[in-house]
Amino acid sequence: MSEIIDGNAVAKSIHQELTAELASLKYDRPPCVAFIRVGEDPASVSYVKKKEKVAGEIGITSRLHILPESTPQDELNALIDSLNADDSVDAVLIQAPLPKQLNERDTFNRVRADKDVDGFSNANLGFLCQEDSRAFVACTPAGIIELLKRSNVETKGKKAVVIGRSLIVGKPMALLLMQKGMDATVTVCHSRSENMKEICSQADILIVAVGRPNTVSADMVKDGACVIDVGINRVPSSETKSGYRLVGDVDFANVAPKCSKITPVPGGVGPMTVAMLMKNTVSAYKRHMAK
Ligand code: NAP
Repeated sequence: MSEIIDGNAVAKSIHQELTAELASLKYDRPPCVAFIRVGEDPASVSYVKKKEKVAGEIGITSRLHILPESTPQDELNALIDSLNADDSVDAVLIQAPLPKQLNERDTFNRVRADKDVDGFSNANLGFLCQEDSRAFVACTPAGIIELLKRSNVETKGKKAVVIGRSLIVGKPMALLLMQKGMDATVTVCHSRSENMKEICSQADILIVAVGRPNTVSADMVKDGACVIDVGINRVPSSETKSGYRLVGDVDFANVAPKCSKITPVPGGVGPMTVAMLMKNTVSAYKRHMAK
């Protein structure tokens, strides 16, 4: 049976490390992160609440700006500009998805690179490509790298397959795995890929970020592979009060017995995303205070 990688435990260790680090710093104010939420999408409300809670536990102060669903781009831009210019704010986080009238790329690019702790701006994606230490790396792929390192998964010279090519998960994930130091040989699959079963079954490390349950079945996984399941999908369930349960993109029950290590959903990658957001916020704070 494979080892289940416990994302909650690893995230908790990172929270403790950050709390200790902040306690040791002697700056005259704590770090401050500004959250922007546009509209009342229930998942966004709950994600922002979770981030605020974890920030508070670590010793990071937070400000929440809630804008109405109908907010035009120029009003959102004005708020971002004021937070960019505010010396008491170290990090600016805009909760996606945004309502349709707002352009997500333009919005993310408006955040000053040294406050863009989500790592979604052109500047930070460019820094990542160039392996420049100024990069704030998107938190989900950065969290997966941390999980691999802390679980002693060897990447050097290994075959890694990433399913998904989104700007927030798949693409930065592939870049991180191929970086010097990680040194994996990376293949990226997407909805137009042919022979996905054949490609995946050669992977030593298989990272799945699609958003569709059972995208990866046992016959697609090599014996002894490490499988990281990024997907978060709601499926109907008669066993829960809410009427649904969360599953990943991997057929966990049948894949787990075949692999060496695997992340569960929930409790795998999810908690690491929040932990890395906090880590990036503390880095942004240290850089600002050192100026
Ligand atoms: P996304 O932007 O929708 O991208 C999905 C990717 O999967 C696309 O590149 C798409 O290919 C590919 N794809 C779709 N169907 C496929 C198929 N049948 N075979 C192979 N590839 C296929 O999604 P995302 O933002 O990357 O998120 C992916 C999943 O991760 C979602 O379930 C999301 O909720 C979850 N997620 C979790 C966390 C976390 O903290 N745990 C964070 C972010 C996202 P094309 O490019 O060709 O369309």
